[in-house]
Amino acid sequence: MHEEASFPTGDCPNCGPDSLGVWAPDVQTVCVKCDEILENLTWVDAQTLVKTGYRLDGVKLDGSRGCRSGACGVQQPNSP
Ligand SMILES: [Zn+2]
Repeated sequence: MHEEASFPTGDCPNCGPDSLGVWAPDVQTVCVKCDEILENLTWVDAQTLVKTGYRLDGVKLDGSRGCRSGACGVQQPNSP
């Protein structure tokens, strides 16, 4: 599976800030939980998303992965 470096998050009127959204071309980004339109969208990398409480397959909370503590958005492969 190709791992995208970024995920859209934003402010959800129901779930609060840093809610994960679903993005599709020509469609506004909506909350994965309640389908409300997200505002103040921010694109975050997988590590940041996990730190905000979401679970992603194959991504574990580990601040040592990625350069600049993951701020560059490049996900380094996890060694077994
Ligand atoms: Zn929501």
